[in-house]
Parts: sequence; C-alpha cells; structure tokens
Amino acid sequence: MAHDILSRVYRERKQVLKDRLAQVKPKAKTALKDIPSDLYMACPNCKASLNVKKLYQAAYVCSECDHHLRLKAYDRIETLVDAHSFIEKGRGYITLNPLFQEGYEEKIHKAKALSQLDEAYVYGYATIEGDPCVVGVMDSHFMMGSMGSVVGEKVTKSIEYAMLKNIPLILFAASGGARMQEGIYSLMQMAKTSAALKKLDDKGLLFISVLTDPTTGGVTASFAMLGDIILAEPNALVGFAGPRVIEQTIKETLPKGFQRAEFILKQGLIDAVVHRKHMRDTLARLLRLHMKGDV
Ligand SMILES: [Zn+2]
Repeated sequence: MAHDILSRVYRERKQVLKDRLAQVKPKAKTALKDIPSDLYMACPNCKASLNVKKLYQAAYVCSECDHHLRLKAYDRIETLVDAHSFIEKGRGYITLNPLFQEGYEEKIHKAKALSQLDEAYVYGYATIEGDPCVVGVMDSHFMMGSMGSVVGEKVTKSIEYAMLKNIPLILFAASGGARMQEGIYSLMQMAKTSAALKKLDDKGLLFISVLTDPTTGGVTASFAMLGDIILAEPNALVGFAGPRVIEQTIKETLPKGFQRAEFILKQGLIDAVVHRKHMRDTLARLLRLHMKGDV
C-alpha cells in the first residue's frame, strides 16, 4: 500500500518535472532550415535591408555596416563552441516575486514567451577547439538581460561549476543592469557573484569576460568587469549609468563614442575589441595559452 502511494507520488513528481523542463526546454535556438529564404529585416544601425538567412550565417553581423546585432544566448553559443559539445547546466530555476511587485509575474511570463528562455542567463560545459570550459551567456531578449535573483544564482553556479571541474570560465555579459522589480535581492547578486569570482581567482582559474551590447548597471559594476581578460564586441555599449544621466550630473557634453567598446579600450578599461567572426579563434587561443602543461 505504502509502496503504491510512494510510486504514484514518484510518478507524479517525475511528470511535474518533465512538464517543467518541457516548458523551459529552449526552442530559442534559431534553425537555419526554419528561416524562409525570402525573409528580410532592416539593420538597426544602417537600415539596410538584410536577408535573414544570410544574416544568420554571418552570426548576425550586418554585411553593409558591420553592425553587431544582439544575439540570442543559444545562437551565440553555437557560434562559439565545438559542435554538439555544449551540455547545459542549471536549468529549472523559477523566478519568484520576492517583493510582491505588481505586474512582475506577468512580465516574467511575457519575457519567457518572447525569448523562449526560462531566464536571462544560460550556461553549461563546452569545448572550444577541444579545450574544455564553462560558457555562460546572458540574453538581452529576456527583460533586457536584467539581473534578478535567478540570474545571479545561475551566474554563481556557473562560477562554482568551473571550480568543480577545474576549468576556465567564459562569460558573455549583456544586461540593462539590476532587475528593479527585485530591489535589494537584485543588488545582492552583485556581491554574491563577485565573492564567487574571488574564490575562482584563488583557485588560479582563468575567467574571460566578454562585454556585448549593452553591458550596463549592476552587471558592469560586478562580475562583467572582474575578468582576468576582458574583451568586448565592436561598438558595444558598456557603462554604469546611461550617458544622459551622466551629462545631467556633470553638466558637460560627453565626447563622441563615449561608453562604446572602442572608447573604453582607449581608456584602458578592457583588453581588446574582438569582431564576432574572430571571437571563437580568439577564445580558443586564449584557452590554449592558459592551459597548464604543453601549449
Ligand atoms: Zn547595417
């Protein structure tokens, strides 16, 4: 009798888990065969009409003006890692509404439907040209990649996973900053992720941070800027407060290109600006250089 009840409970729990995973099962990756050949879109920068199929093949870089369009997390992972090497970790987290903010659940629901992600951060194990690493990618299509409790927790888990496996961590930042609906819980993620990175550093493991458009607010002010090596994509907006707020505060006109990747490279804030077509090769080289033993 007890056994029957237990097995029924087990079956039900298994089904709930299966349903939940099916809900969050990412269909967020674009499949080339699903893109109609006659589908076009305007480049957000130069407004040129671009064939979406060709755009996909060019990793969403405009063929006319070289503008780097914002990438979905799974599409970015596909441009980086060895085929079929990515094993996703840390799925199934559920975003709550700790401060009972009105309308937050609806926003999350909408963001899930739009982005087909369970949250704004995806991570897992992968190899790049054969070298193992943990790859984590933020996705600005989910509530502008804002960092709430789940994003902070998943970023921390990805750091801990790199420590567990004793392999480097590569993290692509894309964020509007802290998630205001989660208030202090969101801000606490800055300290938590930074503390986890200190442990990673103590263990002597490599952390490469890649800043993509946009990387702002609490993400810039925490893990995004703590890389041993910090790269950025061309023309990516990187900053803490927005330019308008700064202009109003200091009452001065900001120079051209302020807070863009090339500008902050000149200021010494980052190590290199890397074109998307060279990103995989660059990361592979950096991983090889930091491998212990033979290079
Ligand atoms: Zn363009």
